[in-house]
Amino acid sequence: MNEHLNPERDNISPAEYDIEKVLRPQAFEDFTGQQKILTNLKVFVQAARQRGEALDHVLLHGPPGLGKTTLSHIIANEMGTGIKITSGPVLDKPGDLAGLLTNLEAGDILFIDEIHRLSPLVEEYLYSAMEDFKIDIMLESGPNARSVQLSLNPFTLIGATTRSGLLTAPLRARFGINARLEYYDAKLLTTIVLRSSSILKTPIEETGAFEIARRSRGTPRIANALLRRTRDFAQIKGNGTVDRDIAQYALNALNVDEHGLDEMDNKILLTIIEKFKGGPVGLKTIATAVGEDEGTIEEVYEPFLIQEGFLMRTSRGREATEHAYRHLGLTKLGGQNS
Ligand code: ATP
Repeated sequence: MNEHLNPERDNISPAEYDIEKVLRPQAFEDFTGQQKILTNLKVFVQAARQRGEALDHVLLHGPPGLGKTTLSHIIANEMGTGIKITSGPVLDKPGDLAGLLTNLEAGDILFIDEIHRLSPLVEEYLYSAMEDFKIDIMLESGPNARSVQLSLNPFTLIGATTRSGLLTAPLRARFGINARLEYYDAKLLTTIVLRSSSILKTPIEETGAFEIARRSRGTPRIANALLRRTRDFAQIKGNGTVDRDIAQYALNALNVDEHGLDEMDNKILLTIIEKFKGGPVGLKTIATAVGEDEGTIEEVYEPFLIQEGFLMRTSRGREATEHAYRHLGLTKLGGQNS
């Protein structure tokens, strides 16, 4: 995937990660968009605070880069509690989880990213911790092995996942608050780009911000990444201000197309049209044909292509839409393309 358009955090350098942290909103008031989720969360946070209780467990799902981690930090700030961060694949054994849980203070937040990747053993261990704030730990091994029950401080588990469909029903049922983050429209992303440029002290015109926003795949992480690259172009090739012309110049130089689609997006659409007559075709077949992981196509590429009307998901597989044909300069002729 075009590195600038990659919404996943794993691919960014430590320096970029530091900038990302600086740009991260700290309070509900700084967080743009996801209005419905925010309105509800504010109520739940205020109610839990008034009762002096830990917030109920929260499940945040949605494509990468939409603000799950950011929201978790904000919840901790607004609750006035600490937050410990970990992720599903890192928690190898129940002991790893026990170490984290026993170190939580009353009301603290435990954030588990990629919670769908917890091992079944660790997941089962989490159940009693979430439900009764109790865990069993094994003392010694062999014939002397015995288990003791430990009481934990009441805590809030925030689970984040890009693939909620992979969560088991028992785990999903243990979250009292369940929120799905949506892609951001260009107007909201423009606000985010303007806010970020003011933090980075980059002069910007609203038309420049809009140009970046509308080509950012509906994703704040991408919008911020494109802003950082565009300000480089503004500094070296322009007059330092990010206006529409320099934004267009930069985005074209970065191979970000008019709709924010990158090479892989276009390859997926072209493959469906040229090799499979526009579909329907199964996900596995597409993945093999384009040489990309099936899960990545499903969680990173496909949701955006569907939301933007390039792709349809039917019971018989994926189909390219008229919009996709037009985008690629092709014509659909009775199910055939020219
Ligand atoms: P991942 O699933 O990859 O962990 P994520 O959904 O947790 O991604 P974040 O790390 O929270 O995404 O957000 C990525 C960046 O986008 C953050 O640094 C933050 O600056 C910015 N961001 C996300 N949401 C918003 C928002 N609503 N307003 C302003 N900035 C945002």
